[in-house]
Amino acid sequence: MTKNKWTVLIIEDEKNIGNYIETILTANDYKTLRAMNGVTGLSLYTSHHPEVILLDLGLPDIDGMEVLQKIRGFSSVPIIVISARTQEREKVEALDGGADDYITKPFGAEELLARIRTALRHRLNAGLVNPQPLVYSRDGLVIDFERRLVTLHEKPVHLTQIEYKLVSLLAKNAGKVLTYDFILKEIWGPYADTDNQILRVNMANIRRKLETNPAEPHYTFTEIGVGYRMLE
Ligand code: CA
Repeated sequence: MTKNKWTVLIIEDEKNIGNYIETILTANDYKTLRAMNGVTGLSLYTSHHPEVILLDLGLPDIDGMEVLQKIRGFSSVPIIVISARTQEREKVEALDGGADDYITKPFGAEELLARIRTALRHRLNAGLVNPQPLVYSRDGLVIDFERRLVTLHEKPVHLTQIEYKLVSLLAKNAGKVLTYDFILKEIWGPYADTDNQILRVNMANIRRKLETNPAEPHYTFTEIGVGYRMLE
């Protein structure tokens, strides 16, 4: 076993998809483990401790959500859910249930590799002593979490309290998809009488202030039907 290869556990019952993923990963210097069902997946996880898990939600024995919950019970290993286009609801549930990201079938090699790289970065970041970043700084946008200051190309950006909370929540989780539900609960509290509309309005205001072209955002991305993701 080569020591410095990342190991990816693929839990997927569709042979063709599993083979496809394995081929891509092997060609890109990853080590792979394959499980055709949830039980095997769980046992391979505990015996091999892979660095990333790709998890299909529709498995023949136990539900993918159950596999997710079981692993989350004792590990923060990055889990990327593989979902079909029709599984919008499951995708959102999986993210709320602790999945780090999702990838929708059919997907290309480049997207798969990018999602895995992102997941690995999160894993490395999570291992730091102080995982909470003090500053978000990407392409001219700087958010200073301690001083609660936002600047764009060195000019201050004036955000409302809610807008600041929203943008700093996204920035602290840069690269991760945060679901509408998760964001609403984090910002307005679990019992607030809110809906996605209030979130959309605030996002639109933020984009007007941060984005050169709000219709083609550079920093704040919409994952349609799921949530938002900020530039990593
Ligand atoms: Ca399946």
